[in-house]
Amino acid sequence: MKRLLLLAGLLGCSQDLPDPQCPAVPRVKPPVKVLDCARYDDGHQVGSSLLVVVNKQVALAGHYTPPDLLPVPAVQSMDGRKNLLRIDALTAFEAFTTAGLLEAGVDLRARSTYRSFHDQCVTFDAKVQAHGLEHAERYSARPGRSQHQLGTTVDITAEVWDWALEPEMAVTWESAWLFAQAGRFGFALSYPAGEEAVTGYAFEPWHYRYIGVEAAAEYARSGLILERYLQACAAADPRFTCPEAVPFEVPINHHFVGGACATDADCADLGAAAVCLVEGHPEGYCTVPCTRGCPDRPGNNQLTFCRAEADGNAWCRSQCDAERLPGTGCRNDYACEVGRRPKAAGSARVCVPQGRRPDAITRG
Ligand SMILES: [Zn+2]
Repeated sequence: MKRLLLLAGLLGCSQDLPDPQCPAVPRVKPPVKVLDCARYDDGHQVGSSLLVVVNKQVALAGHYTPPDLLPVPAVQSMDGRKNLLRIDALTAFEAFTTAGLLEAGVDLRARSTYRSFHDQCVTFDAKVQAHGLEHAERYSARPGRSQHQLGTTVDITAEVWDWALEPEMAVTWESAWLFAQAGRFGFALSYPAGEEAVTGYAFEPWHYRYIGVEAAAEYARSGLILERYLQACAAADPRFTCPEAVPFEVPINHHFVGGACATDADCADLGAAAVCLVEGHPEGYCTVPCTRGCPDRPGNNQLTFCRAEADGNAWCRSQCDAERLPGTGCRNDYACEVGRRPKAAGSARVCVPQGRRPDAITRG
């Protein structure tokens, strides 16, 4: 009753035109939510080793920031999001996505990559607020307990999965390709199906962690899930060598233009400078030197891939393509058509100089 009378008395008052009869009404600021992130900061691990264990029991120090984070190019990030990865993980991810286009026709994108301790605190808190603590614990990590703080972990998505991160994506063959080929690029699936009791997390077919090509090969041979393999490495299990990563190598100044090959002669129709690049590729791909470097990565030109566009045309694109970053086009004088690969059975999209039929590079 007292409050009602007070309200009635104030009705004739305005804050803009002060009236001595009217009491000053203090402006009330909305409460600012303060996240108490420090209470999670009880970890001691630092993550510079690619094989460091990070799970619900073993946490990273809150202050740990990876030493060599670089931005993921916009064309490899969903919605052009600002994603960061450590340099070797990024190089490997770029090669992974390029292979995705060439071999599986899927345009893989990073949806989420590096998250700082504080970012993770915000993410975790938002999940708790939206879905409750139990759900947040299954699908998200407490600050310090996330592999995303390592800067080597990518949540991978694509249009074919409606840009979502859902367990259902696992039934698609694109997801099967992702899983089968990840090791080639040094990535491993962190949270496989049916292992929640060990990993603490539900199945996440999108969450891949870079551990280096050699370690990924040993992990694959081990038959263990990644969590168990990393724990074995941390415990110096004599069964494993747990190789520290050597930098992921990509060819410098050579761009894939498609067409499997065995020797340079298989690529002769692409021009005198074309070579057959076998390293890292079981079949070998014809490549040509890029005539223009990409200014966003001096000395390390981006891989070119063959891409079908919505208008029905298909062109060789580089990741710093003219349409993506104006003025930095690379090998736009190549067109892309469906043709038979020189050595592999079946057909594939191949890039050929404009005006030339793909038959020109078709062999036996
Ligand atoms: Zn993730």
